[in-house]
Amino acid sequence: MTLADFVAQNHAIAPQRQATPLGNTAWASTFAGEVRMVIEDAARRAPRSQQVHLGPSEIGVACDRQVAWKLLGLPAVNKISDPWPSIVGTAVHAWLDKAFAADSERFQAQHGFPRWLPERRVYPHPEHSGTADVYGILETAVIDWKVQGDSAQEKLRRDGPGRQYRTQLLLYGLGYRLLGLPVTRVVLVSLPPTKSTLDQIYVWEHTLTPADDVFLVEIFRELEQRKAWAAAIRSGAANLYDVPATTENDHCYFCNWFRPQSARDGGFGCPGSTPR
Ligand code: SF4
Repeated sequence: MTLADFVAQNHAIAPQRQATPLGNTAWASTFAGEVRMVIEDAARRAPRSQQVHLGPSEIGVACDRQVAWKLLGLPAVNKISDPWPSIVGTAVHAWLDKAFAADSERFQAQHGFPRWLPERRVYPHPEHSGTADVYGILETAVIDWKVQGDSAQEKLRRDGPGRQYRTQLLLYGLGYRLLGLPVTRVVLVSLPPTKSTLDQIYVWEHTLTPADDVFLVEIFRELEQRKAWAAAIRSGAANLYDVPATTENDHCYFCNWFRPQSARDGGFGCPGSTPR
């Protein structure tokens, strides 16, 4: 059986999530379901959801299986995670990009040079480009916006960014350096998605050191191993489930292939910490 046959056969048995629309009447409840369907469908069709390209935001993912499956372009089967946080995040990014571009133009009119470089494509690796949020010219800093709920921001305040975000920031920093711009520090700006105030803004920054480049060399070595897994699966030398999986359940929740039922029904998907 080819990989494409395997996926087509097993993808069909992924269960649909039961939505619970709310409304004051039966009509309103039904209409809430319609609204939700349009939003979810648009989110699924968004270029970001459909991209097969592995970008800087995913290269530092701890799970070999998640990255190898992404490289294979396997269809997402996670019906648990909700698209709403990502929709809010995309909207906030678009708003901030305009706001910082406008601020930069005003600054340039006064001082003759821009204050910020807004969103742009950077190439920290020839095959893995990404869109970096903003570069602060006065700070020589690469800045990334994160729209984070309470628990994610608490974790950031307590431990700093995890491996995935740290890698993403360093890759954007490398991307700007390869464009010929100086990068003194990388900065993560955490913004609250649901608060009615900006009081909960939190900034984490890191001044670049030579150790960061050593870390990125290790990340690129790991990436090559994951590509080797993907190639082995394509050629039939390895099975999808041969690729080692992490057991970090909180990360699995957001993984495109998280489907706990797959441990019981044997269908396509990854059960996370449950072996199969
Ligand atoms: S569900 Fe979890 S263990 Fe499975 S591929 Fe995704 S991140 Fe890895």
